[in-house]
Amino acid sequence: MHDWWTELSEVFYVAVDFDGTIVYDEFPQIGPPVRGALDVLRKWQVDPKISTILWTCRDGQYLEEAVSWLRSKGLEMPVNENPDIEHGNRKLVADVFVDDRNVGGLEGWRQIAQHIWEGQRKHEIRRRRLRKKLHESSPKVPDGPVGRGRA
Ligand SMILES: [Mg+2]
Repeated sequence: MHDWWTELSEVFYVAVDFDGTIVYDEFPQIGPPVRGALDVLRKWQVDPKISTILWTCRDGQYLEEAVSWLRSKGLEMPVNENPDIEHGNRKLVADVFVDDRNVGGLEGWRQIAQHIWEGQRKHEIRRRRLRKKLHESSPKVPDGPVGRGRA
């Protein structure tokens, strides 16, 4: 089994861009929050089935400013890495990316929250099917959680 594989993880990983997505893009300043973003991110933060990752090009001082701004809003998240999943290349492992550079642009946060809710449910169904299939083909597959909390 591959460590980078999220299909069996109980957690649905959501990578979220900062400038233009959480806040209006006024880089290097921090623009005002995009309507609905903070409420949705706070809900995800307390949802044990969702894990958010900050996915940003900000670096150095500008990154620190963004991280402390988020903290001042009650939000903490890993930056540009998925701490639960090890793999050997630079692409971030996430189930979905929320970014104003998405093809088609950024939807409103109400729609984003709906997509993530649906995506998380589908992920859960796939995960259960896959786990069952793996169990049938190899009864040695452990039944415990995979993903978050692994050493
Ligand atoms: Mg952006």
